[in-house]
Amino acid sequence: MPFRSLILGLWLIATTALAADPLLVAGDKFRQLEELLPTPNSYRTASGAPGHQYWQQQADYHIDVTLDDANQSLSAKEVITYTNNSPDSLRYLWLQLDANRFRQDSMANRMRTVSVADEGDKANRIDMGSYRRELMTQVHPSGINLTQVSGKDGQPLKYTLVDTLMRVDLPTTLKPGQSFDLTIGWQYNIHEQKALGGRSGYEYFERDDNYLYEIAQWFPRMAVYSDAHGWHNKPFLRHGEFTLEFGDYEVNITVPADHVVTATGTLTNPDEVLTRTQRQRLEQAREADKPVYIITKAEALENEKRRSKGTKTWRFKADAVRDFAWASSRKFLWDAQGYQKGGTDTLAMSFYPEEATPLWDKYSTAAIVHTIDVYNSYSFDYPYPVAISVNGPVGGMEYPMLSFNGPRPEINKEDRSDRTWSRRTKYGLITVIIHEVGHNYFPMIVNSDERQWTWMDEGLNTFVQYLAQQAWEEEYPSKGGEPQEIVSYMKSEGQVPIMTNSESILQFGNNAYAKPATALNILRETILGRDLFDFAFREYAERWKFKRPMPADFFRTMEDASGIDLDWFWRGWFYTTDHVDISIDRVRHFTVNTKDPDIESQWRRQQHQEKPETITELRNQGMPRFIDGKPEQQDFYNEHDQFTATNKDRNDYAKMLAKLEPFERELLQDDHNVYLLDFSNLGGLVMPIILELSYDDGTQESLSLPAEIWVKNAQKVTKMLVRPQEKRLTSVVVDPHWQTADTNVDNNHYPRQILPSRLELFKEKKKKNMMQKYAEPLKEDGKETQ
Ligand SMILES: [Zn+2]
Repeated sequence: MPFRSLILGLWLIATTALAADPLLVAGDKFRQLEELLPTPNSYRTASGAPGHQYWQQQADYHIDVTLDDANQSLSAKEVITYTNNSPDSLRYLWLQLDANRFRQDSMANRMRTVSVADEGDKANRIDMGSYRRELMTQVHPSGINLTQVSGKDGQPLKYTLVDTLMRVDLPTTLKPGQSFDLTIGWQYNIHEQKALGGRSGYEYFERDDNYLYEIAQWFPRMAVYSDAHGWHNKPFLRHGEFTLEFGDYEVNITVPADHVVTATGTLTNPDEVLTRTQRQRLEQAREADKPVYIITKAEALENEKRRSKGTKTWRFKADAVRDFAWASSRKFLWDAQGYQKGGTDTLAMSFYPEEATPLWDKYSTAAIVHTIDVYNSYSFDYPYPVAISVNGPVGGMEYPMLSFNGPRPEINKEDRSDRTWSRRTKYGLITVIIHEVGHNYFPMIVNSDERQWTWMDEGLNTFVQYLAQQAWEEEYPSKGGEPQEIVSYMKSEGQVPIMTNSESILQFGNNAYAKPATALNILRETILGRDLFDFAFREYAERWKFKRPMPADFFRTMEDASGIDLDWFWRGWFYTTDHVDISIDRVRHFTVNTKDPDIESQWRRQQHQEKPETITELRNQGMPRFIDGKPEQQDFYNEHDQFTATNKDRNDYAKMLAKLEPFERELLQDDHNVYLLDFSNLGGLVMPIILELSYDDGTQESLSLPAEIWVKNAQKVTKMLVRPQEKRLTSVVVDPHWQTADTNVDNNHYPRQILPSRLELFKEKKKKNMMQKYAEPLKEDGKETQ
């Protein structure tokens, strides 16, 4: 490609500065977030840390619960000791009765809509699961049936139910620093999880006539009262999970004597509920380097057959937790392995029915140990005494110290054989365990408000989950983390910003899990770098563990600890639905115009000669011309072409040189290659421009231009590169390692590239006619008869 001369002078700079209509466009992308974030105060500082007057309420629970295995129901009584650490006086308390979501008349049920097409191939169709749920909602008696609401003295208290919430009016105002003991009795029918959905329920096993219970959101829980929102009394609708207070729990669970129970917390009466062998195995597991069975498969298969008439009470104690969940069944195998490192001393344990073997034996407890190991290194040491994974009907759900995880191997119903699993099941299981155990950190300990902001727990957790997956094995099939994985979502229709209330989110998984996780991975790998990011992220986790952060606390802490202004990043990734699409539009190549007439005339002549010949010139080659052999028809201009330097040119040049400073004369002699790279921002999201430059000497150069390159004009920018004479640029690639989630990589190459793809050929299938269908032999139960 021919050179073009770069004419040095002020006009070039002036032209660049005046390009486009910069201020409106650019100012928006980098405008600071103050106007969106709440004003800092003594509870939450401008640095993003808890303030010197930070407070939170305390809710301690004593619960006695009995499981009725014959009727799949619970009856229970709790005493909540609620301590008002706020500076405010409270006249009433709000509680969450989340199980009331399943009542027929709940807001969640009444607001649920369906989408049934009325024309086209998919007309008048609804999936069986949705229909079954609608049906079950009509026939299953659900919700919490209160039998008692009273103060310590046994005096009934006035209460009002508001959908899934309950307001209890206090006999006297609860002043700052005071506590109140609230007693509540209730009964609750457990539902079949697969029928009604939700995050808990039972599973029935027909083969051995047994139930497996995963019990959560089963007791009236104190709603949150905070400095940021007062009472957090949004109803439980479906997506927005929980916002809860920390407290100490004592929970006594009475079940059939042959059941095995696992729960949030430490079992305080192992002597009463475990055999001597089980207790010995537990001790052994603590020091083991691989899982040890506490209940083997053979023992679990024996237990399944029992039908004890008596009951046993399992006593659990859990300190500094925001919730309490448990599981119970005759069917459980149980394995365990201790983990001690740094400040963590815990027992990783798995409980699963025979149907989950041998997949669960192999991966469940191992995945718990791995999760704690990785999460500890990016946040804080796991502080709880146990970390549990239970297999049952719930696909994946987290509670303090305990999680429910669904995937199982294939089982042949007739002879119980097969026990293979798909790639999807294997990585699905490891992934869900990493995810749900990881939730101990976010939001069980870093106690964000899930009912408001799903991304604060799911997004942050999915991000660390990605780090844990990548630390499990090379090329782990992660979803959420790698920028290129989020591209199709980022350019999809029907998006809302990450900063959207849980219930209003569209495309839930991508919005609240994958996009924030990817954004954080980009922040780590591309914007801040690993050192700055890891320091800041750990600082956030440390500052807010066992406390309640709000979005601003996260945004502010990440800036405060990294020292980098990230307002543009939060604004673009969390407050808009813009996507990344940066195009390299053009590369212009210059060398400096020396202004020396002898050099420049020669340069211009060469340019002229290198131009392609026109078609007429080509066809006229060798054609006889009028002036051929006629010297009298030729003059000065036939001897000297239009590029010829004259003495006048030389004199002007000398005069010009005389006026220049020595450094200016040197600049005119400069022989560097100068490149102007034109970029446009088509997606709207400002991001760094990451470049791979290739030169004709075979070398490559990596160059990263910060997002701030878009500060004055967020649509089009031009970057100048000055490179030595021997470095001729041959190609430019934008984002060569797919770091930015650029949605269109076709415009990332200069010159453009032709990318290979496969064209699928297909053949139309011939359909059977009705006579052929009629003549087909009849089969029994869909199976071929002999
Ligand atoms: Zn989650």
